[in-house]
Amino acid sequence: MKKHNFSAGPCILPQEVMKKASEAVVELDNIGLSLIEISHRSKEFVSIMEQAQSLSLELLGLQDKGYKALFLQGGASMEFLMVAHNLLQNKAAYLNTGTWSTKAIKEAKMFGELVEVASSKDGNFNYIPKGYEVPSDADYFHCTSNNTIFGTQITDFPEVNVPLVCDMSSDIFSREMDFSKFDIIYAGAQKNMGPAGTTLVVVKEDVLGKVDRTIPSMLDYKVHIGKDSMFNTPPVFAVYTSMLTLQWLKDLGGIAAIEKVNNNKASLLYNEIDRNPLFVGFAAKEDRSKMNATFNLAEGANGELFNSMWQEAGINGLNGHRSVGGYRASMYNALPLESVQVLVDVMQEFERKS
Ligand SMILES: *Cc1c(COP(=O)(O)O)cnc(C)c1O
Repeated sequence: MKKHNFSAGPCILPQEVMKKASEAVVELDNIGLSLIEISHRSKEFVSIMEQAQSLSLELLGLQDKGYKALFLQGGASMEFLMVAHNLLQNKAAYLNTGTWSTKAIKEAKMFGELVEVASSKDGNFNYIPKGYEVPSDADYFHCTSNNTIFGTQITDFPEVNVPLVCDMSSDIFSREMDFSKFDIIYAGAQKNMGPAGTTLVVVKEDVLGKVDRTIPSMLDYKVHIGKDSMFNTPPVFAVYTSMLTLQWLKDLGGIAAIEKVNNNKASLLYNEIDRNPLFVGFAAKEDRSKMNATFNLAEGANGELFNSMWQEAGINGLNGHRSVGGYRASMYNALPLESVQVLVDVMQEFERKS
């Protein structure tokens, strides 16, 4: 039986995408060859890469606006240093909202002066700082739209007059916004788009070429753009599967359509967390993530009983990250509302049995 998969990443993908991707490993579109044994320069794969790129830009509303979509390797973690390598001449500004921001800051520090404009570390990252100033002489401002581990999400992005860079690994394609205010968006595929192995990087081309340093080819966005994301062998399976997920999302009605579903899933679960006396939400209410809901048991509640109940209900991946403890329900695009209902039913049953 297929489990209800609340895993934070790698995460659930649409069933039909997994089926089609697994078929392509045996044979791609009746060509007598597997997806993973053909040349990445073949017309079949070049077309897959082009579709993945154009679907990304189309879904984000960024076509014909000077952006390029790249499918790179090294994970979102590689972008922590690539962003700095490509943009940081003197000084960069970072908002610190969790583990991933902290790691991005650590890498960027190697390339120049770093201003941490605000941090929510004092609250174990359970909120999003607000009302901070971004220095107007910074080369760029970097933030993390959704904090996968702590379960917070930025609702209002600051208006800045420097290039805006965002790590959207865990909420890209989940909610509508004006993506054209960002200059670089990056996202590891394995949270909301595909299997591990590729990172989507959407770059506004005119933000590049402003640093003096020599950039190693593999770390240079311009090199990857010049080769249409085929500077070296791309991770063909991850790109293909991501493309299928993007096609699935487009067929569903795009980000606007999935956002409605995501809102319904999040309110169903958060309403229960707030109603049920046996649970306490972790993140500040106004900053709660619609992708990753973090919560703890109320004092004295029987954790062993709850754990055995959700496991018996076929739920997977509900344990919180080690730095927060408690529980984390990740509700990425492909998680159906029914799975959230199963979890809520278990929480109610747990209340009755306690
Ligand atoms: C998971 C995650 C990362 C790290 O991604 P990798 O692809 O494993 O390097 C970075 N940022 C955020 C917000 C994440 O959720």
